[in-house]
Amino acid sequence: MPELINGKDIAKRIMLSVASELGELKASLGHIPKLVSISVGKHHDAEIYINMQQKAADEIGIEFERLKLNKNISQNELIAKIEELNKDKTATAVIVQQPLPEGIDHYRVTSHITPRKDAEGIHPYNLGKIFRRDADIVPCTPGAVMKIVDVLGTGLYGKEVVIVGHSDIVGKPLSLMMLNETATTTVCHIGTSEKGDIKAHTRRADILVVAVGKAEMVKADWVKHGAVVVDVGINKAGGKIVGDVDFNEVSKKAGAITPVPGGVGPITVSILMRNIMRAYKTQVSKP
Ligand code: NAP
Repeated sequence: MPELINGKDIAKRIMLSVASELGELKASLGHIPKLVSISVGKHHDAEIYINMQQKAADEIGIEFERLKLNKNISQNELIAKIEELNKDKTATAVIVQQPLPEGIDHYRVTSHITPRKDAEGIHPYNLGKIFRRDADIVPCTPGAVMKIVDVLGTGLYGKEVVIVGHSDIVGKPLSLMMLNETATTTVCHIGTSEKGDIKAHTRRADILVVAVGKAEMVKADWVKHGAVVVDVGINKAGGKIVGDVDFNEVSKKAGAITPVPGGVGPITVSILMRNIMRAYKTQVSKP
């Protein structure tokens, strides 16, 4: 049987460590960080994630403010709201929840969050710091995957890492983070699938990370015996939540594997909390 990577346990440990640092800061400063969550319009699925973020923030002493904006807001009005929060000293972190209405560009909007308050680590400045191996606030899901590898203790030096999916929030930043740890990093995407033999790449992987958004796409014959398999995907299929990896098949072959749910997801939320704490520390040390 493979090692089942328990995302909830890893997340709990990160949360305890963040709570302890926040407790010390509160004792010396007398105040706490505040995350402002901006959402535009109503979306049932997004609400589930926002509630999870609020629960995590409440647990460890981060104030959580929900700013719910009308679905008819323009991009410029949304940017003006962000500029206001950039100046507000009590708002120490900002997140713009997805999805945004058609006509509002998430990248354009979030690029206006000052990098010091960028809870998700997606501002071009913070992403650029990964390039320089100098990142403090990192994109949450790639941060979660790096934490999993760290906890497994397998090391990354010279390891064959194959990432399937090259999105701006998962695959691309993760590939750079893996490269920074001297892994031999391959990134596969739709072009690899359609024009080549994707399995020729994934079968080489010591560590296979899948972030595609296609239910149970990765089967046992994609995977090398004993590989670490990290499934980022969250998909609804047959009335339940499944990953991008066919867990039943692949778990018979993998050396270690993340379940869905209960794998990468909870760790992602705890990395968000860690980012908020780090952003706060920078703001109190260099006001
Ligand atoms: P995304 O922006 O839609 O990106 C998906 C990526 O997969 C793209 O690079 C796409 O390539 C590639 N792709 C699509 N079909 C493919 C195929 N058949 N073969 C190879 N590559 C293919 O998605 P995302 O935001 O990265 O999210 C991916 C999944 O992770 C989703 O299920 C999402 O819900 C989940 N997710 C989970 C967490 C978490 O905390 N656990 C966080 C974020 C996302 P092209 O762009 O070239 O088409």
